Amino acid sequence: MQLQQLLFSQGFGTRRVCAGLVEQGLVSVEGRACDDPFEDVEAVDGLRFRVQGQDWTFHEKAYVLLHKPAGYECSTRPSAWPSIMTLLPAPLRQRPAGGSRPGVQPIGRLDQDTTGLLLLSDDGAFIHRVSSPKHHVPKVYEVTLRHPLEPRAIQRLLDGVVLDDDPKPVRAAACESDAPTHLRLTLTEGKYHQVKRMVAAVGNRVEALHRSRIGGLALSPELPSGQWRWLTGEERAALG
Ligand code: URA
Repeated sequence: MQLQQLLFSQGFGTRRVCAGLVEQGLVSVEGRACDDPFEDVEAVDGLRFRVQGQDWTFHEKAYVLLHKPAGYECSTRPSAWPSIMTLLPAPLRQRPAGGSRPGVQPIGRLDQDTTGLLLLSDDGAFIHRVSSPKHHVPKVYEVTLRHPLEPRAIQRLLDGVVLDDDPKPVRAAACESDAPTHLRLTLTEGKYHQVKRMVAAVGNRVEALHRSRIGGLALSPELPSGQWRWLTGEERAALG
């Protein structure tokens, strides 16, 4: 792949801007200074390059895990709070969409006040696999409740509760509690405000909501709130 095309694909601006970066001596690949924008570079995932003093690795498609903080909207066009996209570096946000590939976008949504594991990608098929209810990828939520849990609440959530927009009951795939005001809820669908509405349907209220797991992927405590990292190939494969 031509070097200018490689930079373009990774979100460093138009092809002309990328060619300019190379011509100005601002780009190196695997530690080697480059000055020819048309140089052919073997673009393999993990290739290291440097632009304007910053290190990057090449990723043909973006698979990103973000530890979402409260106070951010999962939308590229937020209405009241900053977008979670502002937590990503500019090139990652600005990778070009093209053909069947969308720009980098969140996979599903977490509410503004929900924290935890959020995936983002520009791979349309992957986005579909992880978010489509048909694929039943389980999502685990840690719920802090306002009131102590009623004795029958867990069974009711497992049996199914009716929400206001659909007569068909929605059920938790798993539900457990290890403290009176804590609930661990596993869902395989992603209806609007689903956890909050299910908890309301059993007469309680969500005080805090945190997504700890998607399929086999858990949010590790080493990744601080507001930080992101690339998914490994094995993590991606495990998600489908
Ligand atoms: N369910 C909710 O109610 N909110 C979220 O953010 C995610 C699931």
